Amino acid sequence: MNKNTNFQNLEENYLFKEIGDRANAYLTAHPDQQLLRMGVGDVTRPLPAAIVQAMQQAVSELGQAATFRGYCLEEGYEWLRRTIIDHDYAPLDIDLDVSEVFIGEGAGSDLGNLSELFARENRVAILDPSYPAYADSSIMAGRPVTFLPCHAENGFVPELPAEKADIIYLCFPNNPTGTVLRREQLAEWVRYARENKSIIIFDAAYEAYITQPDIPHSIYEIDGAKEVAIEVRSFSKSAGFTSVRCGFTVVPKETGLQAMWLRRQCTKYNGTSYVSQRAAQATYTPEGHAGIRANLDFYLGTAHLIRQRLHTMGYEAYGGENAPYIWCRAPHRWNSWTFFDHLLNECQVLCTPGVGFGKSGEGYVRFSAFSKREDCEEALKRIQKL
Ligand code: PLP
Repeated sequence: MNKNTNFQNLEENYLFKEIGDRANAYLTAHPDQQLLRMGVGDVTRPLPAAIVQAMQQAVSELGQAATFRGYCLEEGYEWLRRTIIDHDYAPLDIDLDVSEVFIGEGAGSDLGNLSELFARENRVAILDPSYPAYADSSIMAGRPVTFLPCHAENGFVPELPAEKADIIYLCFPNNPTGTVLRREQLAEWVRYARENKSIIIFDAAYEAYITQPDIPHSIYEIDGAKEVAIEVRSFSKSAGFTSVRCGFTVVPKETGLQAMWLRRQCTKYNGTSYVSQRAAQATYTPEGHAGIRANLDFYLGTAHLIRQRLHTMGYEAYGGENAPYIWCRAPHRWNSWTFFDHLLNECQVLCTPGVGFGKSGEGYVRFSAFSKREDCEEALKRIQKL
């Protein structure tokens, strides 16, 4: 047996361990203090009652002979795939066939697994900073990677790669910067992909946070995108499903990849839990939708509060309007960790150092709207006193 030596090329991701170590060291030295957590990357509000009831109903069906179910189709129940098309795509005039929508256990695994469809020598373009799954799965597969810096100076809009990219991961609304692409900016990427015969893997995990009317919710709103784009969505951040686990991936037939992805899923994935799929379906009912909308509005309210208060204090802060994240430039040209330590030591506030998401994240920190509202309010008061 020879190991996959590509794993040696992965950078050790110390980010969350290092944050934990520094927080613990502070608490050991100051046992009477409590930390205000503004770096939370996971949802914190409970599931709406309508979704819990749908899950309970699904569980009791599994406990009765007449309604028991075993494996479902690897690509998911047709009732859920049709519901997704009717609610998420038809209103945008996007015409999809049910065979192009694949239910999965969330975006994280599909984003990595999709890389099995492509030849090893393909060059991958990845935003810097970004969610680590794109770079790590590409490096594990041994592919060359081009990083596309995103910073305030280019408005967090990545420049088209100088070197031809075959696979492009785009994530908008973006984690960690909280920024979005306007329609014409996304259209540039679709044009690039068509000209270069590239494929865009569009991570729309935060689509539900879009509030501005001119921001595309789906890459398929752009003409010609169906030939060059796969879209990955998740119920994790839209409906609070980080523990329930459910998401979906759209692979249009025009990409020439739909049959391959179906084959891959049938071989390696035995389908998403019935209970999770019923829960996902309940997010589209009037009661379920109202419940998740209330949670989204709460998070967006927290994001607005953080962003506005940071602006009032004179900080350079981005995002938070169409995303649950606020990307804040460290003052005095400090680096990410210096600002992190300053907030920890002077305000007992925990944030996420931007450099942990990539080199271009240096000099920024990420605040999260998933943090408790009272923690944010108190944290912002303390930051103001700095
Ligand atoms: N994509 C982005 C940009 C994320 O931030 C996350 C989770 O934080 C995911 C994908 C993965 O989400 P999940 O696997 O829970 O669907």
